[in-house]
Amino acid sequence: MESIVLHDKRFKPYLSAEKIHAAVKQMASTVSKDYEGLCPLIVVVLKGSFIFAADLVRELNMDCQLSFIRLSSYEGTSSSGTVSSLMQLDTDITNRHIIVIEDIIDTGTTIDFLLKAFQTQQPKSLKIASLLFKPKAFKGNYTIDYTGFEIPNDFIVGYGLDYNELGRNLKDIYVIAE
Ligand code: 5GP
Ligand code: MG
Repeated sequence: MESIVLHDKRFKPYLSAEKIHAAVKQMASTVSKDYEGLCPLIVVVLKGSFIFAADLVRELNMDCQLSFIRLSSYEGTSSSGTVSSLMQLDTDITNRHIIVIEDIIDTGTTIDFLLKAFQTQQPKSLKIASLLFKPKAFKGNYTIDYTGFEIPNDFIVGYGLDYNELGRNLKDIYVIAE
C-alpha cells in the first residue's frame, strides 16, 4: 500500500482491508452469540459507519433489523465539540434491544448525545459497537461494548471515514502523515 493525498493532506497506510475484515468477523461472532434469539435493532450512525455496518451485519448469524441515523460533530480533522442531530430514526426503539454502530469513538461526545436521547425512549437494552476507539481522547460516560481496534489520537481515513468528504471509499484505513 502506498501513501495517498486527500485535499491538502497526505495519509499513510495504517490498517489493511484483511486486518479490518478479521476484526469485523470476530466482532460479528461475539455479537451473534450475545444476541441469539433477541432480534436486535441495529442503529447505524451515518455517514462514516456505512461500510463497517454493511460488512458487520453480513457476518451475523441471527435475525436483526436495521435503522439509520445521521449526526455530525466533525469539521476538518478535529471534533467541533458540539453535536447536531441531522436525521430522526424511522423506527420505535421502545422495548427493543438496540446496538448502535459507530465507525469511531473519539472524545465520546457524539455517542453520549445519542445514547442520552435513546435512553429517554426506554429501549430494553442499549449497547455500542465501534470499529475504532481512541481511548486517550475518550471523555464519555458510557462503556464501549464492542471495539475492533484501539488506536492512538491520530486522524484516520478510509473504510467509511472521510477527510472533508474524501476517502470514504478506500478499502484500507490510512493515518495522517505528520
Ligand atoms: P466524538 O464525538 O467521539 O469526538 O467523535 C466521533 C465522530 O467524529 C466519529 O463518528 C467520526 O465521524 C468523527 N471522527 C473522530 N475521529 C476521527 C478520525 O480520526 N477520522 C475521521 N475521519 N473522523 C473521525
Ligand atoms: Mg461518525
